[in-house]
Amino acid sequence: MKITEVTALPISVGGNYAALANAYEWAVIIVLIKTDEGLTGIGEASLAGQGRGVLGILDHFGEMLVGQDPDRIEHWWSEMVRGTFWSNGQVIMSAAAGIDMALWDLKGKALGVPVWSLLGGPTREKVRVYVHLKGQTADELIEDALARKEAGYTALRYGPMAAFEHEPLTHWDPQKSIRETIKGTERIREAVGEEIDLLIDAHTMYTPAEAAYLGHALEPFRLFFYEDPIRPLNPNSLKLVRDKVNLPIATGEQFAHKWEFQPIIEQELVDYLRIDLVHAGGITEGKKILAMGEAHGQRSALHHASSPVNGVACLHLDLAIPNFGIQEWMELEPLYELFPNAPRANAGYVTPLSGPGFGLEFDEAEARKRPSRDARLPQRYWLDGAHADY
Ligand code: MG
Repeated sequence: MKITEVTALPISVGGNYAALANAYEWAVIIVLIKTDEGLTGIGEASLAGQGRGVLGILDHFGEMLVGQDPDRIEHWWSEMVRGTFWSNGQVIMSAAAGIDMALWDLKGKALGVPVWSLLGGPTREKVRVYVHLKGQTADELIEDALARKEAGYTALRYGPMAAFEHEPLTHWDPQKSIRETIKGTERIREAVGEEIDLLIDAHTMYTPAEAAYLGHALEPFRLFFYEDPIRPLNPNSLKLVRDKVNLPIATGEQFAHKWEFQPIIEQELVDYLRIDLVHAGGITEGKKILAMGEAHGQRSALHHASSPVNGVACLHLDLAIPNFGIQEWMELEPLYELFPNAPRANAGYVTPLSGPGFGLEFDEAEARKRPSRDARLPQRYWLDGAHADY
């Protein structure tokens, strides 16, 4: 079998993320690899706000791959990642991820088996997911939390309070946010009861000292994990938080590859590995990072905030790994219109499609009607107008 075509489809579906009203159009990049045997593999290479850079890299990779054998996934991964000579960031690793996922899908389709079977076979029957609560205030979050609990979800995630209440995001006051997040979390825990797992994503907004103070104060409310307390690239800063907070820590969605995960895995500064398969080299790299974490008692919590292509790639990997923790889950309705059989959560779990490959249907003709040039991500500012982490 030979690759005949590598196509990148930048798609915009409109719609807004609940926490960022009107700020940002949802854009994704779908990668299609076609072969001389009539098979098509699908992958995703979205990188919000930097999509045109990814498209440029995909153009390089497509030129390299046309005429080649798609069976050699590990080899082409090395050609894309090691073959550049450069140390690679998320623009290159997102492009590599799109190709990698499409090659796994293609291999499954060629052999007539699901991707989870190629990855070692199922270690579980279904995948436990957590969902994002809608709302900014404790009252709004409690209302949605009770509705989700009623629908069968047992793991609920929300962000820091007083962090998204002004649009545009020009009112960042970390002390107010810390105060309200502590008071709000106490109320949410009381409202949902002890049986529900609560997850807070601090979204890298705090300094190490602020994050340590907040995390310590949240300990009585027993979080499932405390996510991205700080920007995670400096392991020393993460150690400061780690040493002062008795809660499981989750991080990694900003990392591009195993070498960025390596120090926090080896120094045991993390409990849940938040790999984004779309930004960190795809399934091939995700499986290796999780194997590194397995040796340190760390579990998976794959990041998912994009199309059903990433959703199904996560599910196939979740189903096959031994150290699964939990799966982030989003069903962005405008994107689901392009993927008629995309899986949906039911009573807190998702069952992966049975394949072959990812088993995912894609309406390419409809997708081509919705081209995108991608948009800048929302920016966050202090009260004095200076840029703040987000
Ligand atoms: Mg996050």
